[in-house]
Amino acid sequence: MDTPVKTPVLEGWFTLDEREPHLLGARCAACGTYYFPKAIKFCRHPDCAGESFEEVKLSRTGRIWSYTNAAYKPPEPYISNDPFVPYGIAAVELEQERMIVLGQVASGVGVEALKVGMRVELILEPLDDGKLSWKWKPLPENKP
Ligand SMILES: [Zn+2]
Repeated sequence: MDTPVKTPVLEGWFTLDEREPHLLGARCAACGTYYFPKAIKFCRHPDCAGESFEEVKLSRTGRIWSYTNAAYKPPEPYISNDPFVPYGIAAVELEQERMIVLGQVASGVGVEALKVGMRVELILEPLDDGKLSWKWKPLPENKP
């Protein structure tokens, strides 16, 4: 069976393994600080002069640190469905790296279903223009 090749919205920002996708970050070789996105030349840690980084797969799970609702159609060049369907945006603290990564919330999950501290996992879903992006999806353990 052929699967159509999907285009990522940003090349090299995440793996295309749809079962277990990972965001791709960078880790400072000198002090171990994590960065996302990975395009970085100098370590921003105040006590570190590191200039060498390795690419790392970041944690696929984390906890919602904050969230909001995108209830208005974003301006161009964002391509959105007509009529525009509101979506949630979550700031998630990654399980291991403890860094905050923003992302849309999985389609079909309304903001009323979100809570600070809720565990979520990374999934890949197409945006309105059909390109794949990462999104945050609440883990089943959150269901009552
Ligand atoms: Zn460093």
